[in-house]
Amino acid sequence: MDNFHRDTWAEIDLDAIYDNVANLRRFLPDGTQVMAVVKANAYGHGDAQVATTALEAGASYLAVAILDEALALRQKGINAPILVLGASRPADVELAARHRITLTVFRADWLEEAASIYNGSIPVHLHLKMDTGMGRLGVKDEEETKRITTLIDRHPSFILEGVYTHFATADEVNTDYLSYQYRRFLHMLEWLPSRPPIVHCANSATVLRFPERAFNMARFGISMYGLAPSPSIKPLLPYELKEAFSLHSRLVHVKRLQPGEKVSYGATYTAQEEEWIGTLPIGYADGWLRRLQHFHVLVNGQKAPIVGRICMDQCMIRLPEPLPIGTKVTLIGRQGDEFISVDDVARYLETINYEVPCTISYRVPRIFFRNKRIMEVRNAVCHG
Ligand SMILES: *Cc1c(COP(=O)(O)O)cnc(C)c1O
Repeated sequence: MDNFHRDTWAEIDLDAIYDNVANLRRFLPDGTQVMAVVKANAYGHGDAQVATTALEAGASYLAVAILDEALALRQKGINAPILVLGASRPADVELAARHRITLTVFRADWLEEAASIYNGSIPVHLHLKMDTGMGRLGVKDEEETKRITTLIDRHPSFILEGVYTHFATADEVNTDYLSYQYRRFLHMLEWLPSRPPIVHCANSATVLRFPERAFNMARFGISMYGLAPSPSIKPLLPYELKEAFSLHSRLVHVKRLQPGEKVSYGATYTAQEEEWIGTLPIGYADGWLRRLQHFHVLVNGQKAPIVGRICMDQCMIRLPEPLPIGTKVTLIGRQGDEFISVDDVARYLETINYEVPCTISYRVPRIFFRNKRIMEVRNAVCHG
């Protein structure tokens, strides 16, 4: 831990990520591959470390949201195929080709422009995105689909490697709309002169509930990190997921307050009796958001409430007893019998679990555990 200088850190359990991918592979029908979704710095967990672990566990493809994330992985020595799920610029097709990065295509005019700019000989792998009801990206009609496949056919370097769609409600108990989108996808696939080698539609929620609907590749995101796609389908999941993310800090100050003394901005908290108050070096600039006031953390295996407003860099907790400076405090994760899950924090923030690790900022270094040992400490401030 010599490249950061503050006792606040996230621990990433890569063994959990390995097991989540390996368990999915065991669960999937033969011939269904795993595409590990590592966009947004692997949902805040650390892109290259998660990608490497997922590939070791049997994933064969990676997915990111934007070209820059794919380039960052290439720079870190990741050689596996990578699909950019979001939109890229036609002018960047050459850059993608040079780095063997697969792009998503969903507009004929984009492809015309890309074809007029790119005349290189390095093959450009493309996946066609179909909009079956998500209303985000994707072709919707047969004529445009045909224009796209014709343009790809005519260009000497464009290769249609895959076709896919994305479901809007796979994390809901009711499957009516999911089934509608699935049927729509089957119908739209008939518009293609032939099926490309890779067909995919299943995010975590879909593949864990309906593995037989994943065609030959599943896009595995949230549940690779050990999180359920939603609280309502958590009880429907076929096996136990292993949570990979935890967040920790240490007491940097401990003091006794007399009844009537106040804590933090706005002086919103008043000690009712003689109380022990600890200060933690983590605040909203670290992603420990102000809305978490009145939530709790774990110290000495017990819950301790967050008191007073959360500041940019610090927050205060009420201690059960006077504790030494340097005592470890767990904000997300386990201490003894107590556990604060990512889901608990998400519920308190009235948001989804996806948002929680993504929000823990660049200021919080990630410590990676593999084979139960510290493998790497990554000071997020310095990592490009
Ligand atoms: C983020 C994303 C995924 C991963 O979804 P999870 O619910 O995290 O498994 C899959 N497909 C697309 C298109 C995405 O944007």
